[in-house]
Amino acid sequence: MKIIIADDSRMVRGIVEKIVGSIGFDAVHAANGKEAMDILRTEHQAIDLVLLDWNMPVLSGMDVIKKMQGEDQFKNIPVLMVSTESETQRIQEALNAGAKGYVTKPFTPEQLIGAIQNVLSIP
Ligand SMILES: [Mg+2]
Repeated sequence: MKIIIADDSRMVRGIVEKIVGSIGFDAVHAANGKEAMDILRTEHQAIDLVLLDWNMPVLSGMDVIKKMQGEDQFKNIPVLMVSTESETQRIQEALNAGAKGYVTKPFTPEQLIGAIQNVLSIP
């Protein structure tokens, strides 16, 4: 399984990579939404999940969700939003736009793993 970790914080990407690595996932790093889209364009067939920060420079996580939904080859790749945005309304906005799940920062490894398993329907 291969995951794109899109977050403008290198530290967060490192933490997330360790957590997803513990359940056997390979990670590809993206420092903003544009990098995530570039990776999708070249590697979408190998990508099983996209973890998206909301607040990133160049292209936000919400922008990425909208772009993915607009393209047939990307719209079925599951997205899990991982963000400090914690208001119910914002979370609902992301889910309505196409995110399959939402984890608020800060999170525990168990919370992130649980959310990933949910999104990927892993029992
Ligand atoms: Mg950010």
